[in-house]
Amino acid sequence: MRHIAKTFARGIHPPEHKEGTRSLAIRRLPFAPELIVPLLQHTGAPAAPCVNDGQEVVRGEPIAKAGGFVSVPMHAPVTGVVTAIERRLSAKGDMVRSIVIRTYMGADQEVLYSAPQDIDTMPVHELIRAVQDTGVVGLGGAAFPTHVKLAVPEGKRIDTVIVNGCECEPYLTTDHRVMLEYADDIHVGIQIVQKAVGAERTVIATEDNKLDAAEALWTSPRIAPTTSIAVLKTHYPQGAEKMITKVVLDREVPSGGLPAEVGVAVFNVATLAQLGELLPKRQGLIERVVTITGPGVAHPGNYMVALGTPLSFALKHAGLRADATEVIFGGPMMGPAVADPDVPITKGITGILVLTEAETSKQPTKVYPCIKCGRCVEACPIHLNPSRLGLLAKSGLYETMETDFHLSDCFECGCCTYVCPAHIPLVQQFRVAKQLNRQRKAAQS
Ligand code: SF4
Ligand code: SF4
Repeated sequence: MRHIAKTFARGIHPPEHKEGTRSLAIRRLPFAPELIVPLLQHTGAPAAPCVNDGQEVVRGEPIAKAGGFVSVPMHAPVTGVVTAIERRLSAKGDMVRSIVIRTYMGADQEVLYSAPQDIDTMPVHELIRAVQDTGVVGLGGAAFPTHVKLAVPEGKRIDTVIVNGCECEPYLTTDHRVMLEYADDIHVGIQIVQKAVGAERTVIATEDNKLDAAEALWTSPRIAPTTSIAVLKTHYPQGAEKMITKVVLDREVPSGGLPAEVGVAVFNVATLAQLGELLPKRQGLIERVVTITGPGVAHPGNYMVALGTPLSFALKHAGLRADATEVIFGGPMMGPAVADPDVPITKGITGILVLTEAETSKQPTKVYPCIKCGRCVEACPIHLNPSRLGLLAKSGLYETMETDFHLSDCFECGCCTYVCPAHIPLVQQFRVAKQLNRQRKAAQS
């Protein structure tokens, strides 16, 4: 094992708040009476349903086909009956076509769709197609289809796989528990992606607040001689692809570029754990580990949740307290607040953070003018000028933000907002600006 004491310059180290769940083993949440499976839970095109209203489905059975190369299929998270295929509210606040399944509560909920396959002898193109068939996407929150990342662009060469086990957002312990409890599956997942991208080596990167996880991965009998482990100094936002590539390999991902341009492919630990478990059995992704935590729940924990479980059901089982005021999907730095408790839990949701009046009342409500203190500039890990970007956003100069000030490089880590003494919601302004730029480009094309 390698120990890297260094980290990157800038960024922040907010209070971790991980003590409530980090030592709690993963527990299975019961199956909800009704599950809602949105046909778009990932970046790319929605899946196309291959079941009908009224049809019985078995847990693990494919219920929707991938809608193109940048898309993945969906599998039944429970044994039950399809009661509707209709538009339902998603976690992002838009209406998404979804398959609604009424759970057969008496069913044993065994996964019956399984046909072992030999991943060692599979040619690379078949391996990539088999990965797509699992429906696995980036489970660290990005939800980008994993098989697309495995298809190395023409002219590019990947020499190193980085496995992202940093989990630097406060409160979240999903990846920490997965590393501890599914170390063997992670190593199988590593073998799959290393073969698919043709890399010679893999570095698993975690932080020094998860030394037990690093030990579990290091002592796993499945570890390959080409895999090493880097324990990084705990720092936010180290889990971002650009930052982890810089810290682990000292390679700079160019502006507007991807890690592939510097010979790197980055995968989240939970993604590889699922891939390592599902692919040899030819099964689909039907559940994921979610940290449910915060002062607003009586029973915080790391829960194995069937995809499509309504948020309200999960919160009830985690002991939602009467004084809960705000629910956030993900961590407090990057996670969006949730407006409706009946939205389903989907592939990209890493955590559910529940706050009470005591925390939300401390959040600043008054925004002051920029005092040009420069703290946001010092905090931005990719050397943007958030202060200038904020002023441009205020003036509605969204296009200039992109053309002259690299808005598209901003990965919305929220460090600038966190340090701003004037409480300017910088990252929120940048999200709006990006959205408006996207709409403008779509209208022009
Ligand atoms: S500008 Fe973007 S990348 Fe820089 S600190 Fe703010 S949110 Fe993070
Ligand atoms: S941290 Fe806030 S007040 Fe300071 S320069 Fe940046 S935007 Fe202005």
